Amino acid sequence: MIGEAALTEALDTLRHSFRAWLSAEAPQDWRATCTTHDGFLATQRAWFAKLAAGGYAVPHWPAEWPGGGRSLAEQKVIYEELARADTPRLLLSFMSTYHAASTLLEWGSAEQQARYLPRILEGEIWCQGFSEPNAGSDLANVRTRAERRGDVYVVSGQKLWSTMGQFADMCLLLVRTSSEGAKQAGLTYLLLDLKAPGVTARPIHQIHGDEEFAELFLDEVEVPVANRLGAEGQGWAVAQSTLSSERGLTLLELSARMRGALWRIADLIHNGGRGDDVGLLRDFGRLATKIDATCALADQFLANRIAGEERVGDASLVKLSYSRTLRDFTAFGLRLGGLRSQYHDPIVYGGGMETGNWMADFMNSYAWTIAGGSDEVQRNIIAERLLGMPREPRTWTLEPSA
Ligand SMILES: Cc1cc2nc3c(=O)[nH]c(=O)nc-3n(C[C@H](O)[C@H](O)[C@H](O)COP(=O)(O)OP(=O)(O)OC[C@H]3O[C@@H](n4cnc5c(N)ncnc54)[C@H](O)[C@@H]3O)c2cc1C
Repeated sequence: MIGEAALTEALDTLRHSFRAWLSAEAPQDWRATCTTHDGFLATQRAWFAKLAAGGYAVPHWPAEWPGGGRSLAEQKVIYEELARADTPRLLLSFMSTYHAASTLLEWGSAEQQARYLPRILEGEIWCQGFSEPNAGSDLANVRTRAERRGDVYVVSGQKLWSTMGQFADMCLLLVRTSSEGAKQAGLTYLLLDLKAPGVTARPIHQIHGDEEFAELFLDEVEVPVANRLGAEGQGWAVAQSTLSSERGLTLLELSARMRGALWRIADLIHNGGRGDDVGLLRDFGRLATKIDATCALADQFLANRIAGEERVGDASLVKLSYSRTLRDFTAFGLRLGGLRSQYHDPIVYGGGMETGNWMADFMNSYAWTIAGGSDEVQRNIIAERLLGMPREPRTWTLEPSA
């Protein structure tokens, strides 16, 4: 077993070599090239290909895959250095390398893994088709139907909020194959080729002017039975793998990026001649402390995971802290930026504070209080699973009483 000193030295070596690699390879001026969708796609694809060639794109994959087999502590170093170098967040390929890959690695047959994982490493884009009208927080309500006809499932229905769905090649699709028994038991998990006949992807226009998601309309789409993950009716269990890759570790990167971006606020205070404003400095101190606390929670989460002591609900603590702090961070930037920062300059895909546009970043911060499970749902998980509080009564109804 590797000793503490040797481990620290190995992590330092990785940090230095990756930092040196980044100083030569990290894209420069990428915000300027990402002002159109074409520019965004080209920048993201080129950066992903570079990371993959350098062996840094999929550190969380098993060791038999190029660049895989990194420990959690090594992954943390890579996240921190990506944030430090202010590289673009991999919004386009994120779903492919995390959600799709982790689900395939856990549930995919050898053939499915051999077929799809190399394509992901080559840059194939995946999206997640779970949410529907009336089925976001409560996925057991999924209504998109799949009916088996011989070697194919015939799928009809609608999916909503599929991040990058308009640019994706493949979709992780949760469908209903049965209405008998418990709602969860009737779900099945399919891998949908988005170029199949009957698929329409319609981008959703957002408040900040961009289109980060798509609605997917599925009209009698044929999906081969060979594209099913797990057994028919096992979709709920398979979906849990996808969802568990969504919270937790990646928040390490996001929290580190938020801390790294504090300098932008410090610059605004300095350049605005407000370095003597005691009240403002106090609020800045409070914000910096909140950001540090979020980073500390993320660190603790990682330490627990490494020690095998992660509890159900730990990831929710990090997620909730991040979403609340991001909102405070962007609101503070907006307040300091004055009138100029309140102009609405349209943006193209930025992850939170990465766009350099406070108004857009502030509006976008609200998305983080919903994405990957809303704040209210995280609070329920923390209350019930971590604090052991009683479950909410499920007997109430929103219907007006007679
Ligand atoms: C940026 C972003 C990216 C996303 N990407 C994807 C994606 O790629 N693929 C995908 O399938 N989906 C995606 N989603 C959808 C997301 O998963 C859902 O929006 C989310 O799960 C909430 O579901 P809903 O919108 O149906 O809201 P609802 O579930 O209808 O909730 C409405 C309100 O009621 C509250 N609520 C619901 N249930 C409870 C409860 N039990 N207790 C207390 N309060 C409750 C919620 O917190 C919320 O405030 C994305 C969303 C965002 C914002």
